[in-house]
Amino acid sequence: MAGGECKLLLEGAQQLVLVCAKGEKYLLEAGMQHLAVLENASVVIGKDGYIKAVGDADAIRKQFSGVFFERIIDCSGKCILPGLVDAHTHPVWAGDRVHEFALKLAGASYMDIHQAGGGIHFTVEHTQKALEDELLKSFKCRLLRMLRAGTTLVECKSGYGLNLETEIKMLRVIERARQDMAISISSTYCGAHSVPKGKTAIEAADDIIQRHLPKLKELDLNGEIHVDNIDVFCEKGVFDLNSTRRILQAGKDIGLQINFHGDELHPMKCAELGAEMGARAVSHLEEISDEGITALARARCAAVLLPTTAYILRLKQPQARKMLKEGVIVALGSDFNPNAYCCSMLMVMHLACVNMKMSMKEALAAATINAAYALGKSDSHGSIETGKQGDLIIINSPRWEHLIYQFGGHQELIECVIVKGKIVYKNDSILDF
Ligand SMILES: [Zn+2]
Repeated sequence: MAGGECKLLLEGAQQLVLVCAKGEKYLLEAGMQHLAVLENASVVIGKDGYIKAVGDADAIRKQFSGVFFERIIDCSGKCILPGLVDAHTHPVWAGDRVHEFALKLAGASYMDIHQAGGGIHFTVEHTQKALEDELLKSFKCRLLRMLRAGTTLVECKSGYGLNLETEIKMLRVIERARQDMAISISSTYCGAHSVPKGKTAIEAADDIIQRHLPKLKELDLNGEIHVDNIDVFCEKGVFDLNSTRRILQAGKDIGLQINFHGDELHPMKCAELGAEMGARAVSHLEEISDEGITALARARCAAVLLPTTAYILRLKQPQARKMLKEGVIVALGSDFNPNAYCCSMLMVMHLACVNMKMSMKEALAAATINAAYALGKSDSHGSIETGKQGDLIIINSPRWEHLIYQFGGHQELIECVIVKGKIVYKNDSILDF
């Protein structure tokens, strides 16, 4: 290849973790055991921000000998991985819940706090009062923390408004951040996160179907707000299976992907519902039934597992091993929210390994290609393959597994985060001796 210009050459990495190399849209248990990893390898990103070539360092050098690169980074002794994908977060809110953490440590359950007016209700109250610009400011700080921890694509939910006005305010905040920030966002309307005070679940579902969703459609047509997914918290005492089905169907009818909270605290047959409705993903699934596991596998509906929730609320762990064995597409999310204040997919992968008994390879695939699949984005994200968006992280370690092994150690490991071939975070605190 003579002449031409490219944006970036990452040269000679000790390990280049592609995750997959054959255009797979997701990996099942067997595929996760054989992640594609190259040694002494390079990546080229074109001026358009997409990956142009991946391969052996010498072969890439030869192939691109006459090409001008805006930037070349020597990656010898280091690892390159795809940017991580966080498939489940609630990052737009005001009013932290540090006081409730103390109550939970003293033994209060999620539902004890919820019924005492805390939990979601506390956050809803503060989020309803907050100005849009205040919400945007704190949201952007959180996104930056995620980016520095290696996340380059994140799913972000509304759901602390419950009334139409505040839900739209939250979705607008997500849209504004999407325009301003390097991190890619999949936006989710989660107006059915809780039943607003003074309403029954049926009344809340009617309001969502008759007023909220038509408004979202209108804002989308005007080009003001684009929403990708619809979510409902299907749970005993929140939205039952029937209300959940009605809301999800109405969302699907306006073109949203179904991606909802299910089978978390009680078995509700949510996995079965998700499979039946053609959902992209169902999250949580601590209480999934055996039939639900079979249904998810058959429908190629991803299970988004959230190890921070079970950890913080001391719930039983989702049965990751059983789901993997039965052929379910397992993805991971941080569930970042005022109850589980964790922005780091590295911590999430570590917890998935220790508490859910996943291997490090499985955890990485679940936090990259499979999480991208859960968001309908695995054509462009989740692996380092030619034609995909140039989202990568460089870590200061000769073996990629350090990313999971060094629990809470990302500040000393992640040297560089790259989105669309542009360095969006360079860690100057790493000392190179
Ligand atoms: Zn959640």
